[in-house]
Amino acid sequence: MLSTRGYASTNPTSTLEPFHFERRDLGPHDVLIEILYCGICHSDIHQARDEWGGSMFPMVPGHEIVGRVARVGSAVTRLNVGELAGVGTMVDSCRVCESCKDGLEQYCAKHPSWTYNGIEQDGKTPTYGGYSSQIVVDEQYTLKIAPNLPLANVAPLLCAGITTYSPLRHFNVGPGQRVGVVGLGGLGHMAVKLAASMGAEVTVFSTSKTKEQDARRLGAQDFVVSLDPKNLDALANRFDFILDAVSAPHDVNAYLNLLRRDGVVAMVGVPAKPLQVQALSLILKRRTLTGSGVGGIRETQEMLDYCAERHITSDVEVIPIQQVNEAYERTLNGDVRYRFVIDMNTL
Ligand code: NAP
Ligand code: ZN
Ligand code: ZN
Repeated sequence: MLSTRGYASTNPTSTLEPFHFERRDLGPHDVLIEILYCGICHSDIHQARDEWGGSMFPMVPGHEIVGRVARVGSAVTRLNVGELAGVGTMVDSCRVCESCKDGLEQYCAKHPSWTYNGIEQDGKTPTYGGYSSQIVVDEQYTLKIAPNLPLANVAPLLCAGITTYSPLRHFNVGPGQRVGVVGLGGLGHMAVKLAASMGAEVTVFSTSKTKEQDARRLGAQDFVVSLDPKNLDALANRFDFILDAVSAPHDVNAYLNLLRRDGVVAMVGVPAKPLQVQALSLILKRRTLTGSGVGGIRETQEMLDYCAERHITSDVEVIPIQQVNEAYERTLNGDVRYRFVIDMNTL
């Protein structure tokens, strides 16, 4: 077994503290990645605090992982020792169900093995995430990372990037379309960059007046302070597609009403409590409310290559791991521009 250092929470109200644990020895298809950077996703906070239910402890969060390959199993062909590699939200899945065969492993009919707070395909071994020195992953669930981008800024692409890229692609966002992004956080700021890069006209809906300049710099044409309902009323029946990346309870009807006929609101944010939907918000213009979960491995690679070609990365604040608990509080207070990334050398 491989002795590994990390940070873990031990219960829903504990802070994250140093933690030692074992990773499995390399099988023939495994790679050992020495972790260099790991982003802090709001999902880490939801799960460390058991806001969605079913959290398993001790928990080593982290699913925006970039690092360097330190060792490879005897049958590995995809990566070589010394190369950069990434791991996102999944480390395995059943590989035989319809979704896995379609490259949509995140919707695996058995269960995806989430990178942390999950279980391996053996049905019993817990998974531990990227707030740690190293990780062992089957090569098929690793991503190739181009060497031309700043690595700390690439890490958030492994979740925030793919989670916004995938629905933008699935719903064919492109030139001539009006796209709304609700919530300018880690996911939201990637959604703005990506939707703008695809040629859409982007409007940001934010509760933070102070983010207007940033929103425009990131590629938005318009910025709307969502706290005043009058600001939204003026935009009724206007949008083709709205991506809702809000982490807390809010009124989704307000955004459904901004859609044109047959428009789509896609939820990527996962508030802990159920949202209330007015049937008439959907019925009157045959609108769709849907959701989207991260992205499959193939599409994650496509997104990384797309970003590498266009020099698209995340705006980050790099922190030492000793500041992880403070970073959680600051994320909850909306005090991050726009993603914390842990420098794992500080572990
Ligand atoms: P984040 O960086 O904290 O951003 C969330 C944003 O939501 C904030 O920046 C804020 O934007 C807005 N917000 C926060 N509280 C609000 C409130 N009470 N009312 C209205 N707006 C509020 O979080 P993140 O990492 O981007 O994650 C966002 C959500 O997506 C989380 O729930 C996370 O678990 C989920 N997620 C889902 C997937 C998936 O596969 N679907 C993947 C990753 C993450 P403004 O300041 O602009 O208002
Ligand atoms: Zn995430
Ligand atoms: Zn499957």
